[in-house]
Parts: sequence; C-alpha cells; structure tokens
Amino acid sequence: MDYQHFFDEAIARLKAEQRYRVFADLERDAVRFPVALWRPEGEADKPREVVIWCSNDYLTMGGHADVIKAVVHAAERHGAGAGGTRNISGTHHPIVELEAELADLHGKAAALAFTSGWISNLAAISTIAQLLPNCLILSDALNHNSMIEGVRRSSCEKALFNHNDMAHLEKLLKEAGPERAKLVVFESLYSMDGDIAPVREIVALAKKYNAMTYVDEVHAVGMYGPRGGGVCEREGVMADIDVVEGTLAKGFGTLGGYIAANANIIDAVRSYAPSFIFTTALPPTVAAGATAAVRHLKASGAERAKHQEMAALTKHALKAAGLPAMDNASHIVPLMVNNADLCKQASDLLLERHNIYIQPINYPTVAIGAERLRITPTPRHTQAHVADLVEALVDVWKTLNLPFVEAKVLPLRAVSATQLEAHCTYPEMKRAAE
Ligand SMILES: *Cc1c(COP(=O)(O)O)cnc(C)c1O
Repeated sequence: MDYQHFFDEAIARLKAEQRYRVFADLERDAVRFPVALWRPEGEADKPREVVIWCSNDYLTMGGHADVIKAVVHAAERHGAGAGGTRNISGTHHPIVELEAELADLHGKAAALAFTSGWISNLAAISTIAQLLPNCLILSDALNHNSMIEGVRRSSCEKALFNHNDMAHLEKLLKEAGPERAKLVVFESLYSMDGDIAPVREIVALAKKYNAMTYVDEVHAVGMYGPRGGGVCEREGVMADIDVVEGTLAKGFGTLGGYIAANANIIDAVRSYAPSFIFTTALPPTVAAGATAAVRHLKASGAERAKHQEMAALTKHALKAAGLPAMDNASHIVPLMVNNADLCKQASDLLLERHNIYIQPINYPTVAIGAERLRITPTPRHTQAHVADLVEALVDVWKTLNLPFVEAKVLPLRAVSATQLEAHCTYPEMKRAAE
C-alpha cells in the first residue's frame, strides 16, 4: 500500500479549498513588541522587521518585566521542568501559589491548573458532566473546539442552543425539567466576532431552572473586571457561576489553563480527569510567570484601560477609512474579507509589501464565507502603528479590489472626548482615510 499517498491527498484537498495554512517564522521582541523579526521562507538569513497585529498576548504581559523576572528567578531556583505528573512528583510550590492566586481572582474556594486552556475545557467539562447522573449539557452553538471536545468526551446527552439566544436556552431548560441534572456551558466573550454573552441572563435562567453553569472566560481574564476576573466579575455575577475556566496564555501572557470553583468540584476533577492525572504538570517557570501576571493585573488597571483605548481607536480608524470592520463591544477587531483566497492574499500583501503581520482566519475557525483578518490591538500599539495599519489596509483593499463600505465614525465607547479629539486630528490617520 502506498501510505504516503493518503497524506499527500489530504494536504492537496486543503490546498484546493484554500484552507492550507502557512505559519510565519517570527521572532518576537520582548522589549520592542509589537515589532518582531520575520524570516521569509527560503530567506531565513534575511530577516525583516514587521509589526504584529494578531497576537493573543492581548496585554503583552508575556513581555512584562515582572513576569520575565519571575520566570528567570524560578528557572534559577527550581530548574526547567516540573519533574512529573502532579500525582507522581510534579506538584511544586509555584503551582500551588498560582492556584491560590487564581481561586482568589475568581472569588472561588479552589482552582486547578492544566497544561493548556484547551485541556482544561476537555478535562473539566467531561469530568463534571460524567459525575452528574444523566446530565444534559446545554451548549452554546458557537462554543470553542475545546468545549465541544469536552462535551463529546463526556458521552452525555447534549442540546445546542442558538448563539447567545436566551429564549432558546430557556426553552431547552424548561423541556429538560427541574429535576434533571443540567450543565450550561458557554463563553463570556466569543473570540472571532468579539461579542459578549448575556451572562446575567444566563445565570438567572440557570437559577430559575436549577442548572449548573460553566463559563469559558479565556478571552476576558486579565482584560475585563476591576481585578481582571473577566466579564462575570464586571457584570457582578462571579459568585453565581459554578465553574469558571480561563487560560494563562492570552491576557496573562504565558501558558496553561485552569478552572476555579468550589473545593469539592476541584477535588473531583483533580481525582477523576485522565487529562489531568496522566500528564506532566506545568513547570515552575511558567507557574511563577503566570502568578506574576495575575498579581500585576489584579492591582493595575492601566493595561486594561490602554488596551480598550487602542481597540476603540483601531476600530474607529478602520471605519473612518471605509474598511469593513465588524462592530462589537470588545477588544477584538474583525475585518471582514468573506473569501478564503482573498483573505490569504490580503494577509500575504500586508506582510510582503507593508511589513504587517495579520494571519488570515479561515474555515474551520470561522464559517466559509466569513473569512477575515482578526486584528488584536495591544497596549503597546501606538497611534502611529494604527495610522500605518490603516494606510496599508487601504492599499491592500485597492490592490485586491475588495469592497469598501461607507466611511463612518463610530461612537467610541471606551475613549474619552479628549482622546477622540486628539485621534481625529491625527494627520496621518486623516491622510489614510482620504
Ligand atoms: C484559545 C482558547 C482556548 C484554549 O486555550 P489555550 O490556553 O490556548 O489552550 C479555550 N477556549 C477558547 C474560547 C479559546 O479561544
């Protein structure tokens, strides 16, 4: 049998569907972020400076001095690895400290760290649902792959509710009846459209129909709420949520995932989840770095404020130039292309002609026909970066004959009148918009 043939065919299929993905060989600069070095394919000896506009290290905590110091210090004191699974010999003081910090962040009794957010959703959703008798999982239709895998692995019955549709969720809850065990799983902030879930309504419905709640706050922890506890903290419903899941890899700039909940839930997941039990723990370096990031963001709102300001400025500048930026109430700036091939071409042009890096987002991350450039401004992007971005995008849109929309000025939710004024008189921005 020609085994190789199957792999070649599989790749050829992706290429034919314009879904084949290419990774850019980048070297981030902790100090100069968003500037990075890019090594074009076949020209690794000729690196070019580019500006990153698609990082999920949303607050650039990965390059924060306190975080770097904590990582270096932990490496010097404890070495590079964890030394085993938590059950064998991988439990170390930095991970214990991290879990205490995370439990406190969400006002819960306990927390459990995993090697990634993806694994934490898989492990926690499947284990919690399996431990409930005849559990029905009510899952938002747009939930992340890791949550879907958790639901699948549980082997429990599931019912999808239409995205953020409270009437539909209520109908399903009512049908299940108050006696049946029910787990509502949803995200607080959906990362592709940047829309925010009606968490208060979900919590109220869960109470009314006696259901447990599980929220993925991956795109909100560190970034929303007075201490960075996420959307549920901001909306005042943190105490009403049964299980909160988050990542250490986005707003907290490092690596790993976690859940926070009552002590008995945490103890049960710790004791029953194979994807926790049979894998090596996060190393002390990562745990210490994450702890430093969580601690910093509990006390400091400066990064959050600047982040929201830059996101609002970016959306405003794109709209003012007639670029089809999707409106939403979060820090995510989706710029719609709606075609896989053109989306890839736009991304390539930005990189090759303008030294701007924005990875194209294609199926299956988004629906076919909803391809986009997903722009993620950070506190370290400046107005000059925004002006350059708009100028480059206008050139790319013209080059590829992509449709402009009617230029309009957004109400800037998170930006004060003075900042708005300063922004509108910024000459380069105006030039780009013309
Ligand atoms: C990125 C992501 C995850 C996975 O988190 P990692 O720490 O990157 O594994 C989970 N849920 C959502 C909604 C995500 O976008």
